[in-house]
Amino acid sequence: MITINSLKIGIYNFSDTVIGRNILRLLSKFAKARNLRKSKPGKRKKFLIVITIDTESGYTAKNSKRMWQKQQRDAYIGYYKGIENWRNLLNHYNAKATFFLSTNCFSAKGQQLTKILTQLRHLIKEKHEIGLHIHPDSDLALQKELNEKFQYTSSRFYDYIKISQFVKAGKQLIRKNTGIIPASFRWGNWALDTAAVKALQSNGFKVDSSATPGIKGHLNDGMHYDWSKAKEHYPWRLSLSDYQNTLHKNSKVLEMPIATFNLLGMTLRADPVYPELLKAAFDYYYRNADRSKKPFAFVVISHSIEGTHIDGSPTRVIKDMEEFLSYASKFVDVGFVTINEAYKRIK
Ligand SMILES: [Zn+2]
Repeated sequence: MITINSLKIGIYNFSDTVIGRNILRLLSKFAKARNLRKSKPGKRKKFLIVITIDTESGYTAKNSKRMWQKQQRDAYIGYYKGIENWRNLLNHYNAKATFFLSTNCFSAKGQQLTKILTQLRHLIKEKHEIGLHIHPDSDLALQKELNEKFQYTSSRFYDYIKISQFVKAGKQLIRKNTGIIPASFRWGNWALDTAAVKALQSNGFKVDSSATPGIKGHLNDGMHYDWSKAKEHYPWRLSLSDYQNTLHKNSKVLEMPIATFNLLGMTLRADPVYPELLKAAFDYYYRNADRSKKPFAFVVISHSIEGTHIDGSPTRVIKDMEEFLSYASKFVDVGFVTINEAYKRIK
């Protein structure tokens, strides 16, 4: 049986070949975002591209296979070279981005820790943003801080008290090591739920970007996430009683969802692993998203580990993202901003 997941990996490998790329280019004109309320004619505000990089241990193997933090927690190269390769690209286009940081980096020692702290300092100086990213099961620094091991990624396996401890400890680890107090958040593997919304609010987080509207996955394991009922593409205040409800709007936390789009019955994320489709999704949102009263935030997701091989050299994702940056930066009403900057302009 072909599952949606294997189909997505198929698309990825397929797009590695010349024929594959050409076919995807042809298919890309069918990409569209279902449930997007369309714009009315008239003057439009800015189109903000919010590049978000989940920043973790790991790397991209030469055969393009991903080695994730869960599989190799001490592959800290995903931090220091991953960040450096992304910075080199972003700074070339003067694009500001948001790095959702798994605090596992603070479990590194010696020279590796020094290299990580140097990269984080560069990020701050260059006006990129550092947000918090939680993977309880693979974050050795968080586990050390709370003096406990954790088995699951997803927030649904933990209660409010435990989640609050994660969020608070993560925030303090970033503050202690960088001097920055993170204001934005993404749960590992998009696995936010209702108790986590409450914990974000009580810990002063203003912005979350865990939602992948219309997508769910890992339903039978510890990485379970489900945004199948939340189909909204414009930011909304998260619900304190049902995290997928986009109408309650009763918390102080603004959800800025990752842009998702539909193609051939699938729902996909705006992600440079499908370069042709990322461009097509951008085109669709650029033409159709309502910008009559507020700017629109087009949230793109990638990972630090997708920016580096094990030897530190930049990956195909960096090259593909360069093409996207070069393409999108030609539009005069498009800007690349951090998620907190987008929040200030939209809230
Ligand atoms: Zn992650």
